[in-house]
Amino acid sequence: MFCPKCGAEYIEGIYLCADCQEPLIAEDPPKNKKDYIKFVTVYETGDANLILFIKSIFESENIIYYLKNEAVQDLFGAGRLGAGYNVLAGPVEVQVDARCVEKAKELLAQIEKGEFEILEDFPEEKELKNYE
Ligand SMILES: [Zn+2]
Repeated sequence: MFCPKCGAEYIEGIYLCADCQEPLIAEDPPKNKKDYIKFVTVYETGDANLILFIKSIFESENIIYYLKNEAVQDLFGAGRLGAGYNVLAGPVEVQVDARCVEKAKELLAQIEKGEFEILEDFPEEKELKNYE
């Protein structure tokens, strides 16, 4: 049971919200659904090539991620992955959906151990603008 006003959850058998005195409803009202994504920082690096590599791995593994660089906001926004890209102003925080943290850490550990072919299939720097 949920309060339609404040979203508080109550056990079966309670029919009034203790705080609002509102009659409770059976379903969680949509406006109170907590389905936003909570991002957790799992990695930090200033290595642009490594960031690109992590991006490609996370994308192929369907990890929901966000790259945060405090010095350069929106660095990884659409269309910005072009010439002059690979000079990073400070480290980038790799953040992932809280529900993906374990999988992401596993992948990062594999990346650090060199279990992915980081050099062989990776495009040359001059080709980076076409990458993605
Ligand atoms: Zn309430």
